[in-house]
Amino acid sequence: MKILIIGGGGREHALAWKLAQSPGVEVFAAPGNPGIAQVGTCLSADRAEGFQADLTVVGPEAPLVDGIVDRYRGRGLAIVGPDRAAAQLEGSKIFAKNFLQQSHIPTAGFVTVENAEDARKALDRFGYPVVLKADGLAAGKGVIIAHDRSEAEAALGTLKGRLVIEEFMRGEEVSFIALCDGRDAVPLAPTQDHKTVFDDDTGPNTGGMGAYCDSAILSERQTSEILDRIIYPTVEATKFCGFLYAGLMMTTEGPKVLEFNVRLGDPETQPLMHRMASDFVPALVAAAHGELRGVRLEWRPEPSVCVVMTSGGYPGAFETGKSIRGIEAAEAAGATVFQAGTRVGSEGLETAGGRVLGVTARAASLADAIEGAYAGVRKIHFDGQHYRHDIGRKGLERYNGRTVGT
Ligand code: AMP
Repeated sequence: MKILIIGGGGREHALAWKLAQSPGVEVFAAPGNPGIAQVGTCLSADRAEGFQADLTVVGPEAPLVDGIVDRYRGRGLAIVGPDRAAAQLEGSKIFAKNFLQQSHIPTAGFVTVENAEDARKALDRFGYPVVLKADGLAAGKGVIIAHDRSEAEAALGTLKGRLVIEEFMRGEEVSFIALCDGRDAVPLAPTQDHKTVFDDDTGPNTGGMGAYCDSAILSERQTSEILDRIIYPTVEATKFCGFLYAGLMMTTEGPKVLEFNVRLGDPETQPLMHRMASDFVPALVAAAHGELRGVRLEWRPEPSVCVVMTSGGYPGAFETGKSIRGIEAAEAAGATVFQAGTRVGSEGLETAGGRVLGVTARAASLADAIEGAYAGVRKIHFDGQHYRHDIGRKGLERYNGRTVGT
């Protein structure tokens, strides 16, 4: 069976690594990356165009919003992902907020505005902090939390076009992802991302600096509530196929939707694939064919952790072309290194993007999984490297008696 993965980041490497372990599966990726090339075949855009895969799985949001699923289905190809209409849940924040409101799905109170002048009037109705969001895709960078009027004014200078203004919610964030087939939904294990560039959730937002996957993040009761109040109504209303990712705030009033993504998270996919015990291929095939009913995914009991190593300066300007050393040593020490922004240069592997590597490990306890990931990180070097030192720390606090939503 030939499976084509669209994309070439850390999420796609983790997916390729997992799918390549399934018997009888050959993995292809477009465009792929040097890490993916170790477990499959990378295709140029030209070769990918006419490629007859038995199944295609789409990594990033941009091709989904652009209608790749409609085009592939039009060619009679099996593909996991939402059609262009359902991808609007991520493609437009205004579409998503209106959908949530009309469907009575819990989310922050909000208004939508057409321009900065309307925004100034609308701001009078909100307290501080207040959240301003650009309408379209912004790679995680279109959201500003303003702590007072002057910060809100400054945000209006940077965010262009239509905006969502919404109330600030307090609580802990959880990434809840479900595989859907247009009718049914199978939840993946819960994960937590770390969005800001520096420790203790400080500094600007990034695409994600690390994530961990641990069943203890949510109780069974919380999982059922999320499925019943958020996931199932959304799948039913939009006939959602693919990965529905609800970014949730666990508030004292229960889970509320911060945002929808219409694909797997990056870096959440790295610890998810590391922990998944089931063969993932039958579930993906079932999702593409509307046959998910009765499918379950099994997870290893051990938590998993992914620490992202970035180029210095990211999410701002950064240099590329820095030689990367120590991946083999990190893997010999027990970590799995997923590649994102890498390329092969004249002297071997070098940096080629902001997020470079996702160093991932699993262990009997969350504390040991964290230590395993950082032991891998310490073996790796490239000039200017940066990483957070506190990935998974919130999860450790959970074992000291604190639960999400309190
Ligand atoms: P989004 O892309 O909408 O998920 O926003 C990016 C990040 O901004 C989220 O992961 C949260 O950390 C933060 N954020 C967004 N909306 C809110 C909100 N209403 N209240 C508090 N934090 C928020």
